[in-house]
Amino acid sequence: MNGSGPKTDLRRSRERMVRDQIEARGVSQPEVLRAMRKVPRHLFVEEALIPQAYEDHPLPIGHGQTISQPYVVAWMTELLAVAPGHKVLEIGTGSGYQAAVLAELGADVFTVERVKPLYELARARMDALRYRRVRLKLDDGTLGWPEEAPFDRILVAAGGPRIPAPLVGQLSETGRMVIPVGASRRSQTLCLVRRENGRVIVRELGGVMFVDLVGTHGW
Ligand code: SAH
Repeated sequence: MNGSGPKTDLRRSRERMVRDQIEARGVSQPEVLRAMRKVPRHLFVEEALIPQAYEDHPLPIGHGQTISQPYVVAWMTELLAVAPGHKVLEIGTGSGYQAAVLAELGADVFTVERVKPLYELARARMDALRYRRVRLKLDDGTLGWPEEAPFDRILVAAGGPRIPAPLVGQLSETGRMVIPVGASRRSQTLCLVRRENGRVIVRELGGVMFVDLVGTHGW
């Protein structure tokens, strides 16, 4: 079969998503665009939401949580500058979609989720879709994953009032972290955190809206 049917429609929707929402807003790294074209986002949402899977907004995944807007996933992934073989820590597995995108870039992904049913569903999805480079843990991600540190890259997919100290401590000497930080729960600033000669450098990149980072070093 080619050229028609629901599967082809979804692939077309995905290509349109990359062109109109992601490339059009300035994400240009070919590897990131390829990963966004490849991961079947519609398999990371509940069945009733499949028709909306490639639309330009976040979607509910239950338990008051969301799968992030496609553009935000692509933007954060590009900022992270992931190379094959990088060890990447993600806080906030949610649906598992962002972790799958990171795995498509050849990273070894370690992802932490605090809500058990989300963790279990994401784990089942990773198995079904054969994302073997993704390891999942049920825990408070503001504590990081000390047994696996240091990480080349850290991506935090939920917003808190400050940058959790354990995460900075688990970033490698040449590491990068992307994290939404805000004093209010309704809006945050996306920050790029780098370590340079033992110093921590934080660059503010723009306004974003994420669900709460709930935990010891969060809300
Ligand atoms: N990356 C996800 C989006 C997740 S939304 C995706 O691609 O679908 C943010 C997630 O962070 C939610 O699932 C929420 O439960 C989780 N979260 C919030 N605080 C957390 C914490 N301290 N540790 C681990 N996960 C946390």
